[in-house]
Amino acid sequence: MQHSQPLRIYKFGGASVKDAAAINNLGGIVRQHGTNGLLLIVVSAMGKTTNALEEIFQLAYTGQEYTALLAQLTEFHRSVARELLPHHDGKAANTTDDEPSLEQLLEQLGDRLATLTTDEFDKQYDQVVSFGELLATRIVASALGAQWLDCRPLLRTDHTWREGRVDWPTTERNLTAAMPPLLTYGPVVTQGFLGGTASGYTTTLGREGSDYTAAIFAYCLGAESVTIWKDVAGLLNADPKIFEDTVRYPEISYQETIEMAYYGASVIHPKTIKPLAVRQIPLYVKSFVDATAEGTKIHDCRHGLLVPAFIRKVNQCLISFESKDLTFISEENLEVIFGALAQVRLKINLMQNSAISFSVCTDFSSYRLDKLLTALREQFTIHYNTDLELYTIKNYDAASLQRLTTGRDLLLEQRTRQTFQFICRRAS
Ligand code: ASP
Ligand code: MG
Repeated sequence: MQHSQPLRIYKFGGASVKDAAAINNLGGIVRQHGTNGLLLIVVSAMGKTTNALEEIFQLAYTGQEYTALLAQLTEFHRSVARELLPHHDGKAANTTDDEPSLEQLLEQLGDRLATLTTDEFDKQYDQVVSFGELLATRIVASALGAQWLDCRPLLRTDHTWREGRVDWPTTERNLTAAMPPLLTYGPVVTQGFLGGTASGYTTTLGREGSDYTAAIFAYCLGAESVTIWKDVAGLLNADPKIFEDTVRYPEISYQETIEMAYYGASVIHPKTIKPLAVRQIPLYVKSFVDATAEGTKIHDCRHGLLVPAFIRKVNQCLISFESKDLTFISEENLEVIFGALAQVRLKINLMQNSAISFSVCTDFSSYRLDKLLTALREQFTIHYNTDLELYTIKNYDAASLQRLTTGRDLLLEQRTRQTFQFICRRAS
């Protein structure tokens, strides 16, 4: 769609809104870099709020005491609001009548938790955990004096709880109708990670899904660019918290980025890239600590061989299936196994088969694994190991292979021309 002025989308993750100082820094970036043209700001929950809400929800759902943790979370948000908005006693008061204030949101959260039922876990999870983004955007919008937008009535998903699948035609229709007048009026702040069903329930888009939100808005509104502001200098070849000597890619193709995200590079949510690639919208990854530094430009580009990328996924589980009668692992058997994995929503990170056995590596979830064992135990002999790590080297060479495998006991390995992957026990 055509705007009178170019639209830019900024996404700020949890670390960039973790306290009042971080939100002030965000304000500085918006004032310095975001004042040309239209601006939409997508914000995640503050700091580790989503983890805290998960914990509170888990306690509440299982009938345990959660009020102390909830009080902590409440006080944390209030104190940040007080610091940023001293004149309003932190009430985030420049809301219009039809928008909830910070206090009203906190009250809604309390009510939700107090009235949980034994209805589907995943559904109620979304109704509770979504408050992280609602609270954060309320505070950030008020601190910036920007418009607060509840994205849930616009960003339509199905009811795949905790991983809502976007209804693109409806979402595009909603956004193109609602957004241009708001954006022309001034910057808009909205929630990452959230969507809503046709019947008015909240959904979430999968952990770390705020990047995806930015891409959804960008696709539907024909944005000029998306910028993800992070605590690292751009897209690096490895997570600096895990690997030494990281290198920044100044530019990189959509394709390479999708693959890295798919293998578990935590820098960008894997679903983010496709909508941007389809409409050729560049994605910038920049540091909120040093906003003038170059960062990374992800776009349609060609480049020579890239330096190897190192990616680690922790908390992995390796599950092996053997047919009980020593028959080969046939297509029919595989169909049963894949069907059960899809049913319990375990995603395969890597797989391998031999004559009579088939192995998959998945993220570990005792709840989902139990369901899988129950479904398949009769038909297959199943072994599994937990507490494993899955390493991927993309664009590997001899030196990078050696660097990562030396001293590790590899349970399984796999290599293609560009990618080397292995599973090993967690380093103690
Ligand atoms: N707050 C959500 C999470 O922590 C979404 C996000 O940060 O992108 O998973
Ligand atoms: Mg987060």
